[in-house]
Parts: sequence; C-alpha cells; structure tokens
Amino acid sequence: MARRVRIAILGAGTAGLTALKEAQRHTEDVLLINDGPYGTTCARVGCMPSKALIEVAHAFARRDWLAGAGVGGTTGLEVDLARVMAHVRVLRDRFTAGAIRLAQSLGERSIHGRPRFLDAQTLEVNGERIHADVVIIATGTRPIVPEAWRAVGERLVTSDDVFEMVSPGRRVGVVGLGPIGVELGQAFAQLGCEVHAFTQGSTVAALSDPAVNASLLEVLGRQMSITTEATVAVHTGHDGVVLDDGNQPQTVDWVLASLGRRPNIDGLCLETLGIELDERGMPAFDPATLRLRDLPIYIAGDVSELRPLMHEAADEGRIAAYHALHPEAECLARRVPLGIVFTEPGAGRVGVSYRDLPASGVVVGAGDFSRQARALMAGRNAGLLHLYVNGADGRVIGAELATPDAEHLLHLLAWSIQQGLTVDGMLQMPFYHPTVEEGLRGALQAARRALSERREQPDLPLCRAAIDWALG
Ligand SMILES: Cc1cc2nc3c(=O)[nH]c(=O)nc-3n(C[C@H](O)[C@H](O)[C@H](O)COP(=O)(O)OP(=O)(O)OC[C@H]3O[C@@H](n4cnc5c(N)ncnc54)[C@H](O)[C@@H]3O)c2cc1C
Repeated sequence: MARRVRIAILGAGTAGLTALKEAQRHTEDVLLINDGPYGTTCARVGCMPSKALIEVAHAFARRDWLAGAGVGGTTGLEVDLARVMAHVRVLRDRFTAGAIRLAQSLGERSIHGRPRFLDAQTLEVNGERIHADVVIIATGTRPIVPEAWRAVGERLVTSDDVFEMVSPGRRVGVVGLGPIGVELGQAFAQLGCEVHAFTQGSTVAALSDPAVNASLLEVLGRQMSITTEATVAVHTGHDGVVLDDGNQPQTVDWVLASLGRRPNIDGLCLETLGIELDERGMPAFDPATLRLRDLPIYIAGDVSELRPLMHEAADEGRIAAYHALHPEAECLARRVPLGIVFTEPGAGRVGVSYRDLPASGVVVGAGDFSRQARALMAGRNAGLLHLYVNGADGRVIGAELATPDAEHLLHLLAWSIQQGLTVDGMLQMPFYHPTVEEGLRGALQAARRALSERREQPDLPLCRAAIDWALG
C-alpha cells in the first residue's frame, strides 16, 4: 500500500526548500525527500563558507595599503590558517542551522533516503512506496573530479571538503578558474599561501569579455601564478602533489579541483519515465515551466543546469511548485541574469554577456577603474567596466566588469536593465560624490559619446517627465 501525497520534493537544498515554502502556501500535503547532508549546498559548502573565508582574506590583504597610508603595526599581522578555517566553520554552522531546522520541522513529512522513480507518480525510498500527484526534482549538483586524480587521495579536495580542512598546507594548487576556483584561489593567496592556478580556457571568473578578463588577470597575477589555456596532469610526488602542464611541474601540498559540477540524477531511475534523455541521462524539460514534457514532474535548481546560482535555484523552486500546483497558469518570467564573483576587484556579468552579443548594432561604453577617484582613496583602484548598449534605442542590455564594489554596481545595472532603462535614463539618476558609482557614470557617458548623441539639455529629467517620488 503506497503512501499518498499531493506533492513530493526530492532534495532539501535551496530549490527544494523554496519549492516547499511555495507549495505550503497552497497545501500542507507536501513530502520532502533528501539524500545526503542537510543544510543546503549554499550554506554548507558554497556561497556562505566561501564568502566567510574571502572576507578574512580581503581584510588581511589590506595591511600593506594601511602601512603605506600611515597605519603602523599592520605588516606584523599574521595568519593562523587553522583558526581562520575554524572561524569559517563557526559561521557556516550558523548559516546551515535554519535550513536544517526547516527540514526537521516537517516531522514525518521529511524522509532521509535516496528515492527512485517506479513510474511518473510512484517513488520508492527506503523500501517505502509513495504515490505523489506531482514530483519536483531538486537534487542539485556535485563537483566533477577526473577518475585518474582520485589516486592523489586526501590531498585532492573540492569545494565539498575544502572548508573541512583543519590546517591547510601553504603550497596550494588550483585547477579550474571559474567563479569558485578564482574566489578560493585568491583568498588563499591573500592569506599568504603560495598559489599555483591553472585553467583550460583563456578567461577566468566566467567572464567572456577579453579586455575585462585581462584587467582581472592583471591583478590576480600579482598575487598568484596563473597559467591559462593549460591542460594539467595531477599525480603524487615525493614531497606533495605534482601539477604538470607540460612546462614547469609545480609541487604543492594540496590541490583544489574546481572543474565544474554535474547534476545529481544517478539512481533516480529517470529511464522508467519513458521520456527522451540526453547522453548524460538528463531529461528534456520546458525551460519556462520547468516541466518534464507532459509528465507531472518538474525540475528545479542547479540540477536543471539552467542558471546554477543561489537566487536562481530559489526562483526555480518557486516556479516549479507554482506550476506543479497550477499547471494551467500563465508562465512566470525570469529575472535579468546576474552573476557575481567575490574577488578583489570583484567581477561579474549582467544581462547579455559579451559572448552572446549580436554581431552588430551594439555600442560599448568603457569605465576605467584604475584611476577612479574613490577607489584610489581606498587603494582599490583597478579593473574595467564594459557596458553593452543597443545602438538603435540606447537601451543598456548588459555589462561585464572587474571593479571595486562590483557586487553593488552589478545590482544597479541589473535593476536598470530589467526596468528597460536607456543610457540617458540611467544618467538622469543621482550619482553621489565621491563614490565608486561615479565610475559607472563614466562608462554611461562613454556609451553616449559612442552613440554619437548630443543632448541639448543637461542630464536631468524634464519636469513633465519626472515621476513625483515624494509622498504627498
Ligand atoms: C563553493 C561554491 C560557492 C558558491 N557561491 C555562490 C554565490 O556566492 N552565490 C550564488 O548565488 N551561488 C553560489 N554557489 C551556487 C549555489 O550554492 C547553488 O546555486 C545552490 O546551492 C543550488 O541549490 P540547489 O537547491 O539547486 O542544490 P543543493 O543546495 O545542492 O540541494 C540539493 C539537495 O539534494 C540532495 N540530493 C542529492 N541527490 C539526491 C537524490 N538522489 N535524492 C534526493 N536528494 C538528493 C542534496 O543532499 C541536497 O540537500 C556556490 C556554489 C559553490 C559550490
């Protein structure tokens, strides 16, 4: 006799828990099934511990600038890596607590175990059969590790284990310089480690604009050795792990493999569903509703591989639960794409990336942050912002950047792009002086020059067009 539920959610990560909360607005008849640890990837081994480490690293890296600015004693500061890692874990435990409590609060509506589909509406977990009207797959992803590298043993770590390291050795190898590799590589370099980083492509931090990428590499290259377009072999040497790119082998104490992630779909038995799977076993689904063909099954979060970021996983959880319970509802639009990398300078992309720009009709406005006044005062003057503008109507459609306070500039840009603002519309916004945001204004002004626009009036809205922003 199968247990019957209205909706079963597979995975208690960000997507699964957000789907749970959305579903609970309509029904209490929800079952959460999680295989693996609770607490979410973001809080447990992702966004949160990485940023906790990065905060310490960025703060410590300021000591030379402080010394130059007249503050004594800073060059005597020392890093105790074991205590830094312990500090990161204390914060990490605070962040995971809420997610763990939420899953526990479900009582019998939460099952720990690996589910498999018997058919589209029947699951089996821990020997129990469950009939669900709808199922949401939100099982996340896991780091990719080449099989041959496993021979290195504990000296090879991924983001899943790095925050568990009690006292990391100071010679560090990083293979793969996407957002995770570049953030953690720089953090360990700033904390005084000798970091040797390798990446296959020519760009890092998920940037695609060559000039912006070069401006970030220029800063990172002062802190660690970086080899791009490298194919690296990893093996055990007599004094550590050897990273060999065919040129100069490097021996390090441990290696962070940050080569990307793969969806957790193994063991779900998706082949029983009778729908088309690709060569990796991934099912086809509607990217708008996240529904698998016409089955009562939805897919949400990183496992979908659509937009593997925390806020997107949450949105996909919401979308999947909403459509699962309202299959005929009008589809919900996605927010403007936004990706932030927490290096110093920060990096990121918003809206249309350089690699996706149309071949013609786009105007680029550049902002050089190596001379930006407020950044200069803080000793953080570095980087470049490229703004992509539709030449036909002046609308800002995207940007890539490596700048101080990138996380804030990227939000301003994302909100403006989603509102459909033009270069002129953005220039009519207030820019306080002296701020890093003035660097964004410089890029907007450069874009306007490139658009060959001459304005008769100053950068202020006309009275008749101004919105009455004050209450009353
Ligand atoms: C080092 C690192 C740093 C990051 N930094 C950021 C950042 O700064 N900003 C940002 O937006 N994003 C960041 N991310 C990405 C972010 O963490 C993910 O986008 C987000 O956690 C995805 O949530 P999810 O619910 O899809 O997956 P998860 O949180 O991984 O949830 C999946 C759940 O499913 C469970 N599970 C696995 N297999 C099964 C199965 N077969 N059956 C049932 N349950 C299963 C897992 O145990 C887990 O509980 C980072 C990721 C990493 C690794």
